[in-house]
Amino acid sequence: MFYTHSHADHILGLDDLRPLSFQHGDKLLPLFADETTEAVLRRIFDYTFSPESKYPTSARVEIRRLREREDLFGTTFERLAVSHGKQEINGFRFGSAAYLTDMSEIPAATMERLRGLDVLVLDALRHAPHPTHSHLEKSLAYVRELAPKRAFFTHMSHDISHAEVDATLPPNVHLAYDGLQLEFEIA
Ligand SMILES: [Zn+2]
Ligand SMILES: [Zn+2]
Repeated sequence: MFYTHSHADHILGLDDLRPLSFQHGDKLLPLFADETTEAVLRRIFDYTFSPESKYPTSARVEIRRLREREDLFGTTFERLAVSHGKQEINGFRFGSAAYLTDMSEIPAATMERLRGLDVLVLDALRHAPHPTHSHLEKSLAYVRELAPKRAFFTHMSHDISHAEVDATLPPNVHLAYDGLQLEFEIA
């Protein structure tokens, strides 16, 4: 599990990892997190991480410090910095795909790692500009510049009517949805 940042909507699903983490015997499921995110995880999920208050059937997980590159599943997960308002958070590239949620700006160095991808997942919060998230027009401009084969927008608010907006997007751009599965090269 790779954490982008410590906001509630990105970390509160940790207890849902319980059944997954029970399938691997004594092995602990690794959670890759930066320093800030780790501190928040340990505080909020005290009953999972602290030996004193550990709940007996809490998720069998362990926090590992997120590095710039992590080799897993036959590919390399590369951390890419993005701006989430004034905060720098993590995006990820793996093989021919990249996942960037909660971003208001993509720094130049990260842009260079995103050109010509097969799949690009991008934040697109709403129609109007927002201080900490990219909005529809801005995300479409990023897609035009980065030219992935396929782009999927995520983190939409209720401001975006899914079917209506999806129908207006260019043929290679789609609104993502819960349960969406994508195939792409990981090497
Ligand atoms: Zn956030
Ligand atoms: Zn978020």
